Amino acid sequence: MRRSEFFSIKPNTNHLNQVTCHAGHTALVVDDSRAIMSMLCAQLHDKEGVPYESATSLQETRQLLVEKPQRFFVAVLDLNLPDAPDGEVVDLVKQYEIPIIVLTGKLDEVTREQMLQHALVDYVVKRNASEIEYVAGLVKLIQANHLRKVLLVDDSRSFRLYLRNLLMVHRYQLLEAENGRQALQLLRSHPDIQLIITDYIMPEMNGVEFIEQVRQNHGRDELAIIGFSTQDNRRISARLLKAGANDFITKPFEVEEFYCRVSQNVGAISRIREIREAATRDFLTGLCNRRHLFEVGDRYYNNAKRGNITLALAMVDADHFKKINDIHGHEVGDSALKALARILQSSLRDTDLVARFGGEEFVCLAVCADEEAVPDTFERVRKSVEALVLPVDKGRLKLTVSIGVTTQLADSFEGMLAIADQSLYDAKQGGRNRVVYAPSKPSSRA
Ligand code: GH3
Ligand code: MG
Ligand code: MG
Repeated sequence: MRRSEFFSIKPNTNHLNQVTCHAGHTALVVDDSRAIMSMLCAQLHDKEGVPYESATSLQETRQLLVEKPQRFFVAVLDLNLPDAPDGEVVDLVKQYEIPIIVLTGKLDEVTREQMLQHALVDYVVKRNASEIEYVAGLVKLIQANHLRKVLLVDDSRSFRLYLRNLLMVHRYQLLEAENGRQALQLLRSHPDIQLIITDYIMPEMNGVEFIEQVRQNHGRDELAIIGFSTQDNRRISARLLKAGANDFITKPFEVEEFYCRVSQNVGAISRIREIREAATRDFLTGLCNRRHLFEVGDRYYNNAKRGNITLALAMVDADHFKKINDIHGHEVGDSALKALARILQSSLRDTDLVARFGGEEFVCLAVCADEEAVPDTFERVRKSVEALVLPVDKGRLKLTVSIGVTTQLADSFEGMLAIADQSLYDAKQGGRNRVVYAPSKPSSRA
């Protein structure tokens, strides 16, 4: 990855420009006020989980930028520093092409206008805690924006270019379409687009017709749409919203308003995604939870039933786990479960699914190229667990697992689970720390 510049525009086709950002993971915070600094840093670190480095003067900022300035993905800058009272720090940081948020006590319009000439991410006047919170939230958004795709739809090339330049300051990945038909095509090949910004007046289909089409496959809580309406036809905004837009902007607009609406809509979609993601995870191990297993399991199962993949389903149960809790305590038991989860995940492929089924029991769905290899694959999993040593107060803790695995598709996903469960029972009866395999055809029994 080239790190010499923040943005490079790679023209892929004549209607698609993807922006690639080369940027670090750390925020740079420059302010000489201790109160502001400690509030902002607490917000960034504790609430948003964003790593930061701080400076209280122009001189200190210069020192931080001497080495590896590309570690910074954003800078939050105070305009009034003891050794730089007139925003000189903005000129310094700009040279390194780091996106800038100005957080300042200066209220005057002249300074604000001057600063906005710099293509800042935002200009925020600090009055109380809510502005600090706003800035921390914005930093968090900017951190992940290079992973977020925004689709611009407008037949005017110059207007698209204008919007693209605005959005590049916020580090979004950008896609462009000249009309609704092209946009729908792009959406099919990039289903992870999070925001569409569309004009109303366009050839082929207007903004309302386009939005209606998008909404047939993408809900408001999964993909945000902002439509442009015009001042001379106020009815358009209501029509955009009724067709499924999340928001609208009336032309002509203020840049600040544009950024606010974009950030708010992207922020809302991201929060919904986070909540959805959390609902599919097991809290202790971070693996998929039981509910998600059943949702996804049916998809894997149907794919296997159609003959597209060979699916192996394994039930993995820790041996004598009750004893581990009894001897070492519940907390050590929890760490052991986390370690076990990591081993299961890392000894299978990324495309395989590992879920916590309940307690000390896990289910693995593995897509296999070759059915014959299934027993060996899970024998490897068993051995990796056996090799694990966890240091604990009373010496070293070792674990074993019993595994029941099958490639028999039975008549449903639940049916497959039942076969794997029977094999697991056999593995326990057979003495534990072993794999019992129920193959799809009796002839291939190992
Ligand atoms: P077996 O080899 O027959 O599977 O014996 P076992 O002791 O592992 O099985 P049993 O089902 O009797 O006990 C499971 C134990 O797993 C009991 C329970 O306290 C423990 N366990 C289940 N969930 C958790 C958890 O989230 N954390 C901890 N620490 N222990 C758990
Ligand atoms: Mg057990
Ligand atoms: Mg059990």
